[in-house]
Amino acid sequence: MVLRRLEETARASREELARLLGADESEEELLFAAADRVRSAAAGDEVHLRALIEFSNHCRRNCLYCGLRRGHAELSRYRLSPAEIIAAAGVAAELGFGTVVLQSGEDQTYTADVLADVSREVKTRWDMAVTLSIGERTESEYARLREAGADRFLLRIETSNPDLYEGLHPDSDWHARLGCLHTLRSLGYQVGSGVMIGLPGQSLEMLADDLLFLRDLDLDMIGVGPFIPHPATPLGGEQGGDLGRSLRFLALLRLLCPRALIPATTALGTLASAGRWEGLRAGADVVMLNVTPSRYRERYDLYPGKVRAGANGTTTRLEAELVIRRLGRRVAAGHGHSRLRGGAGVLLHGQPVGPV
Ligand code: SAH
Ligand code: SF4
Repeated sequence: MVLRRLEETARASREELARLLGADESEEELLFAAADRVRSAAAGDEVHLRALIEFSNHCRRNCLYCGLRRGHAELSRYRLSPAEIIAAAGVAAELGFGTVVLQSGEDQTYTADVLADVSREVKTRWDMAVTLSIGERTESEYARLREAGADRFLLRIETSNPDLYEGLHPDSDWHARLGCLHTLRSLGYQVGSGVMIGLPGQSLEMLADDLLFLRDLDLDMIGVGPFIPHPATPLGGEQGGDLGRSLRFLALLRLLCPRALIPATTALGTLASAGRWEGLRAGADVVMLNVTPSRYRERYDLYPGKVRAGANGTTTRLEAELVIRRLGRRVAAGHGHSRLRGGAGVLLHGQPVGPV
């Protein structure tokens, strides 16, 4: 049976994956249970909590699906000052987080030097791991940030299909984005990528290709979630991704990439209040909690319903700890570095490793 082979050998064909992505409820339960067993055996029972700081909603790009696109003229834009970012990281440190994720639109106002100073400050003051999610930059900018101590970088490829990508990104290039992932890996970052599920024109076969593509990138972290239509974007009238398919994708990811760090994303929690916790039962082992100062939160408007899904850092951390314990899991202490390449970065004998 396909599921058993997947669980034992992490192997499946494109056709088998496409079929499992469309599985019905009874088969879905078996899939989630298999992913949960593999997660427990290969990744352990600890859940890693990350503190997310959304420090700017300015963006130079115009991705068709995103509420932060530059064409969304009604959106009120904000920027946190470096001091505000550092203060928010301090709150996260006090709450016990071992990692802070700094995310923004593509906002060139923050030069690599500015973000390098922020990263250095956060690391030296609180010894937290720093993850960046700031979009595409030049190799020298990525290098400067890495030298300042940034440990990880999240950059979703969004879809492994270049044609689908081009249709959604009027001012970006799929190959250039993939090139960024290679550059980040060569610089010694722990690299995360991922896709959206339920994009217009995205078939089950394309999603199966996404699964195999993400596996072949040998990523440290893989974040996936449903596409949620934003009414102020050109895709506002589309259907979007559904919870079941997103959870099946997540479970299959765990079966294909047993040791990856896989978050139960906010977008899952936006589709259904328990979505994130269902993600933890279907293979996920990471939860990101929003610690952005509350007066800015509503304006980081990637998709509707997002703010409701992540209340303030203190409440959600307590709530998350409670649910995690109820699921029979534990909250991890420490940095929660990649299981593939260890905490010293992505260097082995002084050389970057891994095929990305
Ligand atoms: N600007 C950076 C980081 C912020 S956007 C970047 O693009 O890499 C972070 C992620 O939000 C994107 O990678 C995309 O996958 C997701 N996102 C944007 N709009 C979304 C939507 N409408 N529904 C679901 N996810 C969305
Ligand atoms: Fe900007 Fe990222 Fe949104 Fe694209 S997905 S518009 S790059 S914030």
